Amino acid sequence: MKFGTKAIHEGVSPDSATGAIMTPIYQTSTYVQEGVGNHKGFQYSRTSNPTRSALEANIAAIENGKYGAAFSSGLAAIDCVIKMLSPGDEVISTNDLYGGTFRIFKTIFEKYGVKFHFVPMGDLSAVEENLNENTKLIWVETPTNPTMKIIDIVAMGKIAKSNNILLGVDNTFATPYLQTPLDLGADIVMHSATKYLGGHSDVVMGVLVVKDEGIAEEIYRIQNSSGAICGPMDCFLVLRGIKTLHLRMREHCKNGKEIAEFLVKHPKVDKVYWPGLPSHPNHKVAKSQMRDFGGMVSFTTVGDKLEDALGIVKKAKLFSLAESLGGVESLIGHPSTMTHAAIPKNERKVAGITDSLIRLSVGIEDAEDLIADLEQALN
Ligand SMILES: *Cc1c(COP(=O)(O)O)cnc(C)c1O
Repeated sequence: MKFGTKAIHEGVSPDSATGAIMTPIYQTSTYVQEGVGNHKGFQYSRTSNPTRSALEANIAAIENGKYGAAFSSGLAAIDCVIKMLSPGDEVISTNDLYGGTFRIFKTIFEKYGVKFHFVPMGDLSAVEENLNENTKLIWVETPTNPTMKIIDIVAMGKIAKSNNILLGVDNTFATPYLQTPLDLGADIVMHSATKYLGGHSDVVMGVLVVKDEGIAEEIYRIQNSSGAICGPMDCFLVLRGIKTLHLRMREHCKNGKEIAEFLVKHPKVDKVYWPGLPSHPNHKVAKSQMRDFGGMVSFTTVGDKLEDALGIVKKAKLFSLAESLGGVESLIGHPSTMTHAAIPKNERKVAGITDSLIRLSVGIEDAEDLIADLEQALN
């Protein structure tokens, strides 16, 4: 089956009691048992809930995995992955990680004795130099936020496999429509379903997908033991979102391309970060592992002045000033004062997060209108 068919049909079937075509929102904590030990597969909703099970099966299918697990947020999903490790274990990760992931690694799990190395993953030797017998996990995010660096998942998978360690990929920015890391050598795929999977800026959720039964059992054990599950209403919303993921992503990619090309030509714009541009430093790797290039675009202005960026952000009307991404509506953000403000200025500069850097989550409105809005904001 192809992607759109799977997105709409996998994991769901008409309700056996009523024939309802939409998966019901099973707003229940417990399930009546016919006799001791005689139940219909559900006993308590922390452990499993039919609406959640449908979503978990659906997301597993579109990621080309076997087992899905849904959590109360993207960070709760990452929390579960790190809880598979033990004190003394080490993790190698990208140095321009999503801020919340960096925070949970540094301020929560370091206290429990897990060690993290943050390295520039464009350079494979930087990864290899940090490997030792305690390394248990390589954690990759690609494309990265906000400068859209692309990390070679196949290369990371080879390093992980030959050293017998797990490879986890945060696939939030690409979505399974553009990139399926389990096909490229990853063991675990993670999403903030808050973003493109939900797609309508109305839910916070995280998911994990794996192929291996042993890893899945460990994830379900932690999901049930730590209890960071999501409610059935949220599962319903994300299931509904995924039904149009392929349609939305086509529009996000098309608009992303038009806007990146508009920005490249604009005299006031300096750098443009979008992996689909042939001038993007990782364009070749992007082409080899992604089916298209998405709707996240960042840019800087000539002279790199803070006040220019703040002026553009203020004047934009269709692009709403907000954190987050992946919804149908376009958003604009200023990483150095918003999402990445907690990072010291020199470190920001090294990562390319300069004063004038602006990040766009390009929505699925009509490209002409979006471009006209950026044009008036830039002038
Ligand atoms: C938003 C985001 C997260 C965190 O997910 P939440 O749902 O906000 O907890 C993790 N990784 C990436 C790349 C994100 O964009």
